[in-house]
Amino acid sequence: MLNLILFGPPGSGKGTQAAKLIEKYGLLHISTGDLFRYEIENGTPLGLKAEEFMSKGELVPDEITVGMLKNKVNDNPEVNGIIFDGFPRTLAQAEALDRFLAEKCLSITALIALDVPDEEIVQRILSRGETSGRSDDNDESIIRNRIFVYNEETAPIYNYYAESGKSIMIEGVGSVDVIFNRLTATIESVC
Ligand code: ADP
Repeated sequence: MLNLILFGPPGSGKGTQAAKLIEKYGLLHISTGDLFRYEIENGTPLGLKAEEFMSKGELVPDEITVGMLKNKVNDNPEVNGIIFDGFPRTLAQAEALDRFLAEKCLSITALIALDVPDEEIVQRILSRGETSGRSDDNDESIIRNRIFVYNEETAPIYNYYAESGKSIMIEGVGSVDVIFNRLTATIESVC
């Protein structure tokens, strides 16, 4: 199984690239942000809880996020592999993911990080906000908080997987196709 973590700050293009990668490699795409938005749209208790945090640009607590993630993986036992997008976002989530996969005799193949400067990210998210309908994409102070939380809590995950030689950084600025080509070349070097 090819289990990839697509990593990078909010707005770095993970969702766009994941959509293209699943088509090419036949993988399951799991975006915790999309799963939360689905729960919110359906007004579920989980959605209501998640919205409290998402609307402020904060992370949803680990126990909620990890439980939801495990359910999604367990619901799809027949897949060729998984692209994790927006998960893990804390070291505790990364450790929980590794333990969960190990119980199934599985592991993360690689973490591929998209490198995009902060100012480019703020501009990208604000322009996405014009059409995404996401309230967390429209307010610059919420966007800056998401970037702050990313740098504090999420960025260390790169070093965590680097310890086992699994982290790879690629340039995340360029056209969608150019970045896709960088990603596929990287994936083919690890699988
Ligand atoms: P982006 O990558 O643009 O921030 P996402 O859709 O990945 O967008 O995430 C949107 C929001 O959902 C995050 O700001 C956070 O509140 C919540 N969220 C998504 N994934 C996680 C996670 N793994 N842990 C905690 N919160 C999460």
